[in-house]
Amino acid sequence: MRKPIIAGNWKMNKTISEAEKLIGEIRKEALNQSVESVLCVPYLAIGKAKDMTEGTAIRIGAQNMHWEESGAFTGEISPAMLNELKVDYVIIGHSERRQYFNETDETVNKKVHSAIGHGIVPIVCVGETLEQRRENIHKGLVKKQVREALKGVEKKDAKEIVIAYEPIWAIGTGETASSEQAEEMCALIRNTIAEIYDAETAEAVRIQYGGSVKPGNVSELMSMENIDGALVGGASLKSPDFVKLINY
Ligand code: 13P
Repeated sequence: MRKPIIAGNWKMNKTISEAEKLIGEIRKEALNQSVESVLCVPYLAIGKAKDMTEGTAIRIGAQNMHWEESGAFTGEISPAMLNELKVDYVIIGHSERRQYFNETDETVNKKVHSAIGHGIVPIVCVGETLEQRRENIHKGLVKKQVREALKGVEKKDAKEIVIAYEPIWAIGTGETASSEQAEEMCALIRNTIAEIYDAETAEAVRIQYGGSVKPGNVSELMSMENIDGALVGGASLKSPDFVKLINY
């Protein structure tokens, strides 16, 4: 059985003191322990977030990282730095990074290898634009993104990773993919993993849906066979909403 995983992606929101307040609010609530809750907070808030969630079931993630251990890469954060803070997860290849920061399938693959090598579980994001969906090339594109991201990744490691299907047209727009659309693409991703590895590996990988997930639509999305979780932007920034998502 795959354990559901709901992760908040705070994006570029919350100062350290704001993060302290939000995590303090979330920590006070009773969270469904059969769901893995993850907070992907800005780098500067990771230390505080780790301290505040020690001894709880809440896991902490970063939103990006460089693939190199260290070096002359001004402004970047390395996996070794995340290791020292005992970061559990790292989002790789979010569409905003692909769109605004030149993230490519190739750099995504490098980062996936690096995260695995450092014992940090990658949450690999894939997804199409509205134009690509209208042109009906979204399935081929997402399959390619998955194949490229996992290139050279061993089966035993592939089983542990998380993939997030995030259609770009549904991010921050209030427009959610229908649960059927989301399920269709998450099933396609699982089939792609079965093609690359085998059915057992495909059954083990957790696949999230992301894009305007809210307390009002989470349970229907989570009821779909191939959707094992959610990657949530806006609704993860308010404690009552985030708590409702975890306790869907
Ligand atoms: P929203 O939930 O704000 O649409 O953002 C989705 C997302 O990009 C999560 O990574």
